[in-house]
Amino acid sequence: MAKTKKMTKSGDLFSHRPYWAQRFGTAPFLPMSRAEMEVLGWDSCDIVLVTGDAYVDHPSFGMAIIGRLLEAQGFRVGIIAQPDWSKADAFKALGPPNLFWGVTAGNMDSMVNRYTADKKIRHNDSYTPDDEGGKRPDRSVIVYTQRCREAYKDVPVVIGGIEASLRRIAHYDYWSDKVRRSVLPDSKADLLVYGNAERAIVEIAHRASRGEAPKDMHDIRGTSFMTDGIPDDYTAIDMSELDLSHLHEKLDMNKTVVKMPSFEQVSADPVLYAQASRVLHQESNAGNARALIQRHGERDVWLTQPPIPLSTPEMDGVYGLPYARAPHPSYGDARIPAWEMIRFSVNIMRGCFGGCSFCSITEHEGRVIQSRSEDSILQEIEDIRDKVDGFTGHISDLGGPTANMYRLACKDDEIQKVCRRPSCVYPDICKNLGTNHDPLIQIYQKARAIDGVKKISIASGLRYDLAVKSPAYVKELVTHHVGGYLKIAPEHTEEGPLSKMMKPGIGTYDRFKQMFDLAAKQAGKKYYLIPYFIAAHPGTTDEDMMNLAIWLKRNNLRADQVQTFLPSPMSLSAAMYYSERNPIKPIHRDSGEVVHTAKGLRQRRLHKAFLRYHDAENWPLLRDALKRMGREDLIGPSKKHLIPNWQPKGTGGRGGEGGRVGRKNGAQKFLTQQVGAGRRTTVKADTSNPGAFRSGASKPGASKASAPKGGAPKGGSSKRGGPKAGTQKSWESAKGKGRRGRNSGA
Ligand code: SF4
Repeated sequence: MAKTKKMTKSGDLFSHRPYWAQRFGTAPFLPMSRAEMEVLGWDSCDIVLVTGDAYVDHPSFGMAIIGRLLEAQGFRVGIIAQPDWSKADAFKALGPPNLFWGVTAGNMDSMVNRYTADKKIRHNDSYTPDDEGGKRPDRSVIVYTQRCREAYKDVPVVIGGIEASLRRIAHYDYWSDKVRRSVLPDSKADLLVYGNAERAIVEIAHRASRGEAPKDMHDIRGTSFMTDGIPDDYTAIDMSELDLSHLHEKLDMNKTVVKMPSFEQVSADPVLYAQASRVLHQESNAGNARALIQRHGERDVWLTQPPIPLSTPEMDGVYGLPYARAPHPSYGDARIPAWEMIRFSVNIMRGCFGGCSFCSITEHEGRVIQSRSEDSILQEIEDIRDKVDGFTGHISDLGGPTANMYRLACKDDEIQKVCRRPSCVYPDICKNLGTNHDPLIQIYQKARAIDGVKKISIASGLRYDLAVKSPAYVKELVTHHVGGYLKIAPEHTEEGPLSKMMKPGIGTYDRFKQMFDLAAKQAGKKYYLIPYFIAAHPGTTDEDMMNLAIWLKRNNLRADQVQTFLPSPMSLSAAMYYSERNPIKPIHRDSGEVVHTAKGLRQRRLHKAFLRYHDAENWPLLRDALKRMGREDLIGPSKKHLIPNWQPKGTGGRGGEGGRVGRKNGAQKFLTQQVGAGRRTTVKADTSNPGAFRSGASKPGASKASAPKGGAPKGGSSKRGGPKAGTQKSWESAKGKGRRGRNSGA
């Protein structure tokens, strides 16, 4: 095979010479109709973006970022949002794009969006006007790409966003319970863009405008394309040889490709799949990752090296584009829940170095934290104050995938470039990681001082093992930014599942709780922690879930809005779920660690039921399980027992938690239950999360806990002690859910 071009250098995102169409200026909204194009004086679009979400012109929505960024480069960009996919007509609404289609499923994978962890259809969709379900197809990227081809067969198609990004290679698909091919051959797109797409899409657009076909662009980082064989100037390393690193020391990383086992091999061999998953995650650092190649039938899927993270000026540029900060006017008064959730919030950074194995944020946004400057963040707060209807002085979040990773980074760039650790904080916080929270504290302080700002909440999830490193941060947070409750995510109490999730032990939670309680006391406030948990994560036994339930009761907590582990595409946990091997460690076919995995509906329901041990619906299921486990001592009439030995009339007939999900009338409703306070209003269990691909929970959140009445049984995770039972309030379920998984999906 012929030689390739050199991988392109990563120039500044805004250094390209603008396209000639820049003369048309900035559109108030990117057009969604011919009529709007005419008002703008356009005879055609250069690029048309097709998305599974409603068009909200705000930087929390991937299509808005990409659209506005391309507009800033001089291109005319149109949007086709949530088209009727049954035929090609809706795809012709703006005419054929001059350069290419850009296709995305939206901020979430369409299967995660459409189905619960029990594989039941959801009847709502937070990214759709009036929360209406059914406005996007299953596997949207494939369907939309086919319709684009039918509409205008000669126009190239570039696919991107979370769905394409996390399905870029052969991957386990929970919904069909099999390994699927990369989405690239299935969609027959010309080019796939993965991860944060800004650099790649800008380069693709400029090169396409000079006449180059996207299918021939084989030298752009963060992309994938179909090819035949390995170019002559590349050295191939078989995946099985990767541990022989001394043999590869002298190889040019930019001219080396790792040969992954073929789709056919990994789909037939779960152990090989687990090993491939391990390698994929090791080859994710932009500083040292190599290209990957994977055979699919007669052709190869080639993945170029990961994208170079955006610099702070580039992040400022992206977030400072002229967004209308509102849904497109064609939606009228319709309510778009995902927009309502973020309209008064500010995204201050991207990326996550936590590496939680159930989460795909690291795989999509990268491990390097990309932070905005202080000025840019403060400017956005002023813009919200001045331009967004309904602002009352409350900024609902200053955050990102994690609330407190702003400006945190490896202390040494050179070390970071060669690092292959999957997490900077597991099993312990790496000695090379900077944990200084002062820049974040400063932003909080300056943001509070802005005229017209009365309150700033922090709704993104907190990484509490990092927060304990900065007592000043905890104090600042609790004193000024907690509105009664603060959500954090221990995810479990038991070492088995925690070690598979790459999460710290529950002892760290206890340490944080002590700091939190002290800070609240000093501030004269009564505040509560909201812990999240995941049921049925790989590595979790029935006994682990029982111990978690005991811990919850002992700590006077009730899990509300329970979610079960969902193996999201490309996550390490999905590889564990499928293969029952642990890709966090080296895989050995005959001797590696076997991961216990709850797969059957009954066991997954049981795990979920343990989290809601206080719900009478679950008691028959739990009684059976406890008897089988030899723990009848936990069944009885006193408050010291986990569940009672009696059953309230009219309850227990639905077979436990699983019977509740996916009801015809929409999402399940929960009453928040409180101790010492009146009942809160019924709230709808939200299924949204802008940009979320946070967790292996069925929707982003996993479970949240609140405080039950009564005492707690002894036993369970006794070695951990834990705080004394208190009178914690519970919390409402819907609005804040999943904020910590936020990202743009760009
Ligand atoms: S050396 Fe440590 S801090 Fe640096 S990137 Fe690796 S794990 Fe993270």
